[in-house]
Amino acid sequence: MLVWELAYTRIAGVLTGLEAAAYHGHHRQPGGWLAASPSRVERMQEECAGVHSFHLQPADGQLLPAYQPGQFSSVSVEIPGHPHWQIRQYSLSDAPGRSYYRLTIKRQKADHKTPAGQVSNYLHDTMQTGATLLMHSPTGEFYLDDTAITPLVLRAGGVGITPLMAMLEHLLLSGSPREIRLLQAVRDADAQPFGQRLRLLAQRHPNLRIFTLYGTPAPVLAGNEEDADETADENLGYGLLADEHLDTLLADLPRMADCYCCDPLSFMRHVNILLRAQSFENRHFEVFGPAQVIKRLSE
Ligand SMILES: Cc1cc2nc3c(=O)[nH]c(=O)nc-3n(C[C@H](O)[C@H](O)[C@H](O)COP(=O)(O)OP(=O)(O)OC[C@H]3O[C@@H](n4cnc5c(N)ncnc54)[C@H](O)[C@@H]3O)c2cc1C
Repeated sequence: MLVWELAYTRIAGVLTGLEAAAYHGHHRQPGGWLAASPSRVERMQEECAGVHSFHLQPADGQLLPAYQPGQFSSVSVEIPGHPHWQIRQYSLSDAPGRSYYRLTIKRQKADHKTPAGQVSNYLHDTMQTGATLLMHSPTGEFYLDDTAITPLVLRAGGVGITPLMAMLEHLLLSGSPREIRLLQAVRDADAQPFGQRLRLLAQRHPNLRIFTLYGTPAPVLAGNEEDADETADENLGYGLLADEHLDTLLADLPRMADCYCCDPLSFMRHVNILLRAQSFENRHFEVFGPAQVIKRLSE
């Protein structure tokens, strides 16, 4: 056997062992699954145009494996006419400890350059209450350290709010006094997942402030008392997140604050540079694409 073949076989053996150990870990916890498990859609909810939440429970009535706020689950789907099963990852978007998993999925539409996304469209077109979906045990390294007491900066672009919603709901549910600033970038007011929920949370929790930056000019929200729900988020206007935004929004936060960011790839590097320039060293990233990008960001 050639040297490289030997090396390859050894490395593959180590990796397979690590993967098996990780799955075994999931399997051993209460309700843990070894393989994909059928889950039933109990409820669906539109979060904004083209984004739906699906509440899922195990079809066999068993317990759900626990997860950390920020982790994701994979789903396997067999799309009629396609030769292979397809697997996609979706962050669990609600606080852990509920009787369901909530996935919040954006329909990836076709545009003049790219075709429609296969699985997100398939799920939007076929999932309805009572339908089943094969889900894998939650996993992922992007999750909240809820033993920390540092202030938090949560930064989300578009549907990237999903893992941060789980963190936020978890913290507020547990009565955490941590100072939280959430910076959400969305195309426009119609494309803001969880917009209403966030405004409600900001009204109820004085330690939470939310700021919204629009991609296109948005109507200015009226500061009307009766419409307090609408004004609970601080409208930053429109454009790209810039140094001057962070100067005002984060100036009073200690630099040891933990920053959790989930943006489209194109913005991730930009946000990283801004936060680094402001000396926020505790930066954690999730990207809805290949993990190598996150590794490159930390270099
Ligand atoms: C850890 C993690 C968590 C995630 N969490 C969420 C979440 O909470 N919510 C969510 O909505 N998504 C999430 N995602 C993204 C999700 O996994 C899918 O990638 C997304 O739903 C798109 O899948 P799809 O099958 O619809 O698109 P795909 O068919 O996989 O296509 C992906 C993109 O590529 C483009 N494309 C396809 N073919 C071509 C081609 N030939 N040329 C050019 N472009 C092409 C499509 O237009 C589409 O935009 C997460 C991803 C990761 C890794």
